Amino acid sequence: MLREIADRDPKETDADAPAELKVGYQGEPGAFGEVAAAAHGGVPVPFASFEKVLEALGQGVIDEAVFPLENAIVGGITEALEPLAAGVLRGLDLVATGLTSVPVRLALSAKQGTPIGDVKRAWSHPAALRQCTQRLAAMGIEPVVCYDTAGAAKIIAADASTDAAICSRHAAEMSGLDVLIEDVSDRDQNSTRFVHLRQADHARARVPLAFLRTSSMTATTRLDVLTGATLLPLAGTPEHPVRMWVLGADAARLQALAPARDVQVVSLGQPAPHASRLPPKEGTAPAVKSLPHATARKPATVVEVGPFKVGGGHRAMIAGPCSVESPEQVMRIAREVAACGATALRGGVFKPRTNPYAFQGHGYEALEWLAAASREVKLPIVTEVMAVDQVQQVAQKADVLQIGARNMQNFDLLRAVGRAGRPVLLKRGAGATTDEWLGAAEYVMASGESRVMLCERGIRTFEPSTRNTLDLGGMLAVRPLTHLPLLADPSHAAGRADLVEGLARAAWASGADGLIVEVHDDPARALCDSEQALVPTRFAELARALALDPNAHLPLAQLRAWVDAIDHDLAELVKRRLDVARVIGDSKRQTGRAVLDPKREAAVRRTYYEALPTSKQLADKLVDLLIEAARAQQSIEE
Ligand code: PEP
Ligand code: MN
Repeated sequence: MLREIADRDPKETDADAPAELKVGYQGEPGAFGEVAAAAHGGVPVPFASFEKVLEALGQGVIDEAVFPLENAIVGGITEALEPLAAGVLRGLDLVATGLTSVPVRLALSAKQGTPIGDVKRAWSHPAALRQCTQRLAAMGIEPVVCYDTAGAAKIIAADASTDAAICSRHAAEMSGLDVLIEDVSDRDQNSTRFVHLRQADHARARVPLAFLRTSSMTATTRLDVLTGATLLPLAGTPEHPVRMWVLGADAARLQALAPARDVQVVSLGQPAPHASRLPPKEGTAPAVKSLPHATARKPATVVEVGPFKVGGGHRAMIAGPCSVESPEQVMRIAREVAACGATALRGGVFKPRTNPYAFQGHGYEALEWLAAASREVKLPIVTEVMAVDQVQQVAQKADVLQIGARNMQNFDLLRAVGRAGRPVLLKRGAGATTDEWLGAAEYVMASGESRVMLCERGIRTFEPSTRNTLDLGGMLAVRPLTHLPLLADPSHAAGRADLVEGLARAAWASGADGLIVEVHDDPARALCDSEQALVPTRFAELARALALDPNAHLPLAQLRAWVDAIDHDLAELVKRRLDVARVIGDSKRQTGRAVLDPKREAAVRRTYYEALPTSKQLADKLVDLLIEAARAQQSIEE
């Protein structure tokens, strides 16, 4: 059943999916775009202009569109790229799903019996004419622009002149023309690369494609070298100052390397950099049409219970023991984690154990102990339910119901928690794909609960050194597909305390909305998962390293230790900056360039002003000091 929900191939699974994929292209039947449109079994649909193709795609009249991106001889196809950029800037949410390279042979064709010496003019699409400028000039043939290659053949067929068309042999034959020259391309091996585009909510991007919107052309030079991407420059217009299309580079890298401030990276391939940390603007592209709740295109879901707030830029730290062992144990640990800035208290009262003779949890009695600790430290409770008949009673005391990894596909349980009126933390099964995970979320949501949090907790791989493998790639892959908060559980992934901090930091840095971490004040005696529990002091270090909210009522000692850690980081960064400045100086000298660059200095100052908008004086002093030190490193005399 779930496979049916999650599977993405509409032909295999979606009963009401259209039997055929309608693919729009610009031009007449017989145009090169038609070949690209049919490439993956699509049914080509012709349109008179690229704008009309986009309109049809936006209205769902066609499922896919093909646009010529670049040609082997003339490079970027401006005629297609400009309207595409304009469409995206107007709000069309498209993703690039594939590329097709179409071999191009430009046949010079005329009405039957036309001697080649009589051909004085040749009609075609401007991009095709550019591909044979030299050959036409050498033959003394004047180019005439029309809307399409195959369209040109039709025009010539209906015309009384001895003009020729430049089109495919197929188009020439369709219009009953003779092919006078098989290929008038200026170079052999001509081809055009087409991109396949779909609406973002109907498909997942597979091709990295972006464009850079900027008023400064120089800002984008060398990006191809830096990113390994193909750049397709455009003229741009005042309202749409699009200067360049970029094929092959990921948007994050482009954003990081685009040197000027006025460069905007618009991606049709991947989510924007740091999108993971920001609420999606208009929601993001879902994987599958048939998971309407979990993959709905809507702003990020924020789950809020008291001080616990996660999603849409709010980040959470859930911490506590694996299992609630005694009233004292849970109270002590609750106090510790609350003091470190945790935003929710975890603790299992029903424990899923591999061995039926292992400790199974103290059940409802422990729920009372957990509730008392929660009241004391004013943190909401996150606890697991393992069976349908536990849901109601646990929901009376718990603030968040956890579905454990082993129950991720217990569909009755998913439906039951979906009806319980409590937010749900849904762990990913150790053997579940990301689509199955989203499918499980859909069960909960379809049963009525919209506040679902997805938690990556490691999957089972061949690697024996960790209990599971924390699949941050899977977590990130889910990010553009869902509006739901994404959490990570480094404890169950690692299965050993020494790796928890590293995994937690990695998950946090990659943009997880929150973490769930097991903490125990006497791990050796813990009744469950003793190897992976962090002692409170180490949890405190972690919480500090992750820079939880400084307003989270931390005790003074914690705040001091935090400031110490920041100073340590600052000093390290300053040292690194000086090292890099020295290397820049050396490299400029080697290439004969002036080491001093007042424009760069102004740019550095702007960066500090932006980061410290209310302390301009501090920003100035810091920049003065840094520049002075950098000059000393670069051996520049005042
Ligand atoms: C837990 O959080 O205690 C737990 C059992 O987690 P998981 O279901 O991810 O193994
Ligand atoms: Mn555990």
